[in-house]
Amino acid sequence: MAPELSDQQILEKCFEAWNAALFGGSLRTPELVAGELAPGVGGLFGSRGPRITVDAGELGGSRGERVARIASTTLHEMVHQWQDEAGQVGTDDAGIVHLRTYRRAAMDHGLECEWRQGHGWDVTRPTAEAWLALMDAADPELERALVAGALEALGRSWDAGGPAM
Ligand SMILES: [Zn+2]
Repeated sequence: MAPELSDQQILEKCFEAWNAALFGGSLRTPELVAGELAPGVGGLFGSRGPRITVDAGELGGSRGERVARIASTTLHEMVHQWQDEAGQVGTDDAGIVHLRTYRRAAMDHGLECEWRQGHGWDVTRPTAEAWLALMDAADPELERALVAGALEALGRSWDAGGPAM
């Protein structure tokens, strides 16, 4: 059996496949980091670089859930990157916010958003269509890793939020 994809490989492959599936391949490839973030922070986008960091620390849960969470957080951060490249306000390093413009951009790129008091629309989940589009665009290794995870993840959402607004 081939070795499992690492968290870093999942992040890189998800970026490439989501970019093709949902952004028309328009996003620049940023620095991608599967690292360990502070408690309560699932992912971060930094416009300088640019850089996307997703939490790959102690996530808990099954392998499928872990893969799905990394994929979901990657898409959340990609929406921040899309906003940054589109010149939308409110996406700088100092205070990422999840207000109306984020929600609109997220909905346009395959995410559903939930409001969290004091944080905004930062609890997000890919739509069923977005998961299917990801699997269509994924290479076979990523597709294998995603099959179980995406099925587990349908309807689940994670707080992928950066700093509170
Ligand atoms: Zn965010």
